[in-house]
This record gives sequence, C-alpha cells and structure tokens, in this order.
Amino acid sequence: MRTALRIINEAMATHTKACLAFSGGSDSVLLMDLIFRHTEHRPVVVFADSQMEYPETETFCRTVCGHYDAKLHIARASHTPEEQWRRYGWPMMGKIAARKWMQRHKQRPLGFKIDVSTCCRMMKIAPARRLAKKLGCTLQFTGVRGASDDILRGLRAIKDGATHYVKADDLTVCNPLTGWTDTMGRRYRDKYDLPVHPSKARGAVTIGCVCCGGGSQFTESFIEAKQTQWAAFRKRLGQEHVPVSFKEVAASVDSFPSPIVAVFSSGKQSPTNWTAPGPWA
Ligand code: SF4
Repeated sequence: MRTALRIINEAMATHTKACLAFSGGSDSVLLMDLIFRHTEHRPVVVFADSQMEYPETETFCRTVCGHYDAKLHIARASHTPEEQWRRYGWPMMGKIAARKWMQRHKQRPLGFKIDVSTCCRMMKIAPARRLAKKLGCTLQFTGVRGASDDILRGLRAIKDGATHYVKADDLTVCNPLTGWTDTMGRRYRDKYDLPVHPSKARGAVTIGCVCCGGGSQFTESFIEAKQTQWAAFRKRLGQEHVPVSFKEVAASVDSFPSPIVAVFSSGKQSPTNWTAPGPWA
C-alpha cells in the first residue's frame, strides 16, 4: 500500500486537478477507497458508460460515490455499440487474438472485421478522457494492475511505468495499483469491508460490458439478470415455440459461432465451410 500511496502523491505533486476512472469493478472501488481514505486528494470521479453495462452498475457507482461524498460524472460515446462494431470491427476473441487474426486476414475474406481494442478505446476510454479534460483534469487515476490483469497491460506497465503521459489524449495516466496481486486486493477489500458490485456478488467474473465477445460472455450472473427482461420480450413476441428459459437461449446463441471461433482462435487456416449448429440454419 505504501508504494501505491507514494505513486499517488508523486503524481499529484505535479498536477492540480485529477480524475478517477471509476467502473464499479473491484479494483476501481479499492482505488477510490485508497485515495479517499488514506490521502487528502479528492479527484473528480468519471464513469464511462459503454451503453452495455450491467443493469445495476450506474446505481452501484452512485452509491459508492455517495459514501465518499464524491459526485459521479458520466461519459458516453456519441455513437451506439452497433455503429461502432459495424464500422470498426466486432469485439471478438480477445485483444491479442483479434489483432493477430486481422493481420492474417487484412483483405477481410469473410466480409467482417474484429477489433476489441478500438471498441474499448472508442466506447469507454476516449469518452472518459475527453470528459476528464473538459472538467479541467490533467491527470487520470485508473485501477489497472498491469500483469495481474492481462499480458498486454503487463507489457505496458514495463514499458510506461505506473505514471505516463498519453499524447493522444493530452492526459497523464497514473495506475497506482500496478503490481498488486489478487491476494493483496482481497486483503485490502476484506480489511475495509468494501462494497461489491451486485453482479460480482452473484458470481460474475467481470462487470464489464455484458455482451462483449472480447472479454465477458454469457456469465451465469448475466443470464440470471436477464431472465425477467427475456420473459417480457418473449411475451411481446407471442411465439409459443420460443424458449421460456434465457439460459437455453444463451446456450443456443453461444453454440452458433463456437465452431468458427474455435478455428479462428487456434490460428489455423480460415475454414471454407461452416456447418452452424442450432436452429439457425
Ligand atoms: S469490453 Fe468489449 S464491448 Fe465493452 S467496450 Fe471493450 S471491447 Fe467493447
């Protein structure tokens, strides 16, 4: 914890106004507590609404901010996720796998692009940073932990360090939790009894976008949360043959692209035939 506090204080020594990128996830709750409990700094709090959040996320973020007497600012892209995906690529397979696949298939032989990084950048990162700048901030704190999150973040932490200037956004980004392990985070959260996002409490692995094929998928928690909405949608459809259980629908949707995604992920030659399972074909 001492290292994290040193990183925060050193960053604040050269900036007059900072923001905290707050997602409602475990690490961002931890970072908010760390800053508000153990320092005198009071960054403004910015939540990037990707338009694909869990239904309870915004309320949860407001509740946590209320606890620290911090106002929540919400950033949103001016276009929809579907517009993003049609134009720049679909968020499938994970950041590195998508990049490698696109390098091999520059000519788009199947007629579509996949791109997880650009989706994250345009739907979440850039809107949040634009709002931070508008609010007069020159420094942004994030709950990124580096290698404990994923390989790419680990490499970036080695390359950039905990605090670095991002020219594209004209903003300094500081990741005080760089190097924190799962155990360190769990100990801190237990010690201060920090609140947990309702979806995580129900077993969600991440509370990122509910419909992302690049990270979070049809988790048990998502399926459970969507059952009521599905029941209302099914009633409106008025079609008896449509399954009552959303779990059944999720399994069916999941199985549809699985054979082709498995081939792409393995890095083998693009398939020429695709026998799609399920009731679709
Ligand atoms: S988590 Fe997935 S769907 Fe959400 S912004 Fe990032 S790539 Fe897009």
